[in-house]
Amino acid sequence: MAEDAGSHYDMIIVGAGSAGCVLADRLTRNGRRKVLLVEAGPRDTSPFLHMPRGFGRTLADPRLTWYYPTEPDTHHDEARSHVWLRGKTLGGSSAVNGMIYVRGQPEDYDGWGAGGATGWNAPIMARAFRAVEEELQIEIPQRRTILTDAIIRAAGAAGLPERHDPVGVDGFGIGRTPATISHGRRRSAATAFLRPAERRPNLDVMTDAKVDRVAMDGLRATGIVVDGKIIGAGSVILCAGAIESPALLQRSGIGPAAILRAAGVPIAHDLPGVGGNLREHKLIMTQFELNRRIDDNREFSGWRLLRNALHYGLTRGGPLSRTYDLNAFARSGLSTRRPDIQITFSSFSLDLAAGKLAFDRAPGMQMFAYPLKPTSEGRIDIASPDPAAPPKIRPNYLATDYDRRVTIDAVRLMRKIAAAAPLDELVVRETWPGPIMGDDDQSIIAAAHRDQSCAHAIGTCKMGTDDLAVVDPRLRVRGIEALRVVDCSIMPTQVSGNTNAPAMAVAWRAADLISEDLA
Ligand SMILES: Cc1cc2nc3c(=O)[nH]c(=O)nc-3n(C[C@H](O)[C@H](O)[C@H](O)COP(=O)(O)OP(=O)(O)OC[C@H]3O[C@@H](n4cnc5c(N)ncnc54)[C@H](O)[C@@H]3O)c2cc1C
Repeated sequence: MAEDAGSHYDMIIVGAGSAGCVLADRLTRNGRRKVLLVEAGPRDTSPFLHMPRGFGRTLADPRLTWYYPTEPDTHHDEARSHVWLRGKTLGGSSAVNGMIYVRGQPEDYDGWGAGGATGWNAPIMARAFRAVEEELQIEIPQRRTILTDAIIRAAGAAGLPERHDPVGVDGFGIGRTPATISHGRRRSAATAFLRPAERRPNLDVMTDAKVDRVAMDGLRATGIVVDGKIIGAGSVILCAGAIESPALLQRSGIGPAAILRAAGVPIAHDLPGVGGNLREHKLIMTQFELNRRIDDNREFSGWRLLRNALHYGLTRGGPLSRTYDLNAFARSGLSTRRPDIQITFSSFSLDLAAGKLAFDRAPGMQMFAYPLKPTSEGRIDIASPDPAAPPKIRPNYLATDYDRRVTIDAVRLMRKIAAAAPLDELVVRETWPGPIMGDDDQSIIAAAHRDQSCAHAIGTCKMGTDDLAVVDPRLRVRGIEALRVVDCSIMPTQVSGNTNAPAMAVAWRAADLISEDLA
């Protein structure tokens, strides 16, 4: 295959998501390396990408969002397929996500180090988080309403104290949700990190370009293949996320030999861990009808939407400028110390029967919860060498007794909060899952199987030193020269919270490792 004459880079970064934008910024700061950042999606010019509540729009737009159907999981003869969403534009998933900013628990990162990822621990990650936060300008919303006050007091009555944390400390209890929002605008990884980097002459950004695979010379990466053309580079860094990075490796002949053979891809290197160890936060949602208009349900349609759009345009404030109000970390019956459940609260409820994004007509609120450290393990594999064919995602949700027990406790806690004073005086009834979900373990798990996931997948190119590790602790693909992976896929275990901040902190740390190796 002919090399695209004239284009040769020191480094090519594949994917301009949370991790890719941070890397592109840090690796071009000293001006000495010529870097190409390649993104499958378009530039982030849509105004809805920058207005916090715009995600209702952008997640419904196939130009800006990937939709990956999962393989059906079977539970009691009921087979269910889900659709996993991911961002497809500059900023990646950080451009379309729910903007909740959570670092995770220090024990998560000490656990990575203890599990074989030498050089990764809580203090090192804390430094990376602080550095990321300087650029991001995280905000903690201070809005108080009758509903948020009632939720905080009811959570207290249910055993969850109110926290008044600074950003980055996510302890036990309920608190306001730190968000990647600044002055009413979303702070995606692209707005915070790529915008300043794009002014540098040593960074080229190519959009609307889906990379087919890594170009290989034996066991060395020599560039990328886009639309059948090679672009050469001294080294390649995959930042395509936990779904696409393992798929890219497998399409390049790096992965479990049996999977590559079945997919018809010539084997460059048998690396059995690629695509395994998939962990995802499987959420379960509850919604409640309220007896008073203290919610936001009416704010996103009709003349109120017009009024709110005007308000937003003039002041960058109002309902279109915010995201989830409150976030809690709780303990299941299996935990003695570390929180193992996250619950997120919204001042709206969705009409889930509508078949599209719509809000309930009656006043309502929503809570959703998930086990923070799921132990069920799924896989992502390609079934064909065709880059246009979606990878096969097998989530294997709720497969372990641990995940089921924590999920059951999470549901009982959400219901306990809704039934506690003073929220009990505002709640008319549970509308979702409602009467179809009893209080017995079996019916809670059946309801959880029907619900969605959080788009927090990790682990499919895990870092470590064991036989199933895909990258070493310096994030180099094992057995291959000049190829790294830097994104959520390298996380060996799930972090205790949402995954955007950890993805950016991983990239910050990776930039240090890469620069050290090149020095
Ligand atoms: C709807 C939604 C809501 C979420 N809510 C939150 C939240 O509130 N808080 C939070 O912390 N986390 C949230 N997350 C999760 C978080 O945003 C992600 O875990 C994180 O952004 C992942 O970062 P990443 O760098 O691993 O991948 P991504 O940010 O997904 O970046 C991957 C990039 O690679 C590009 N790409 C993929 N394949 C190719 C290819 N072959 N060639 C070129 N480019 C390619 C993609 O288009 C994308 O831009 C949410 C995610 C979603 C989708």
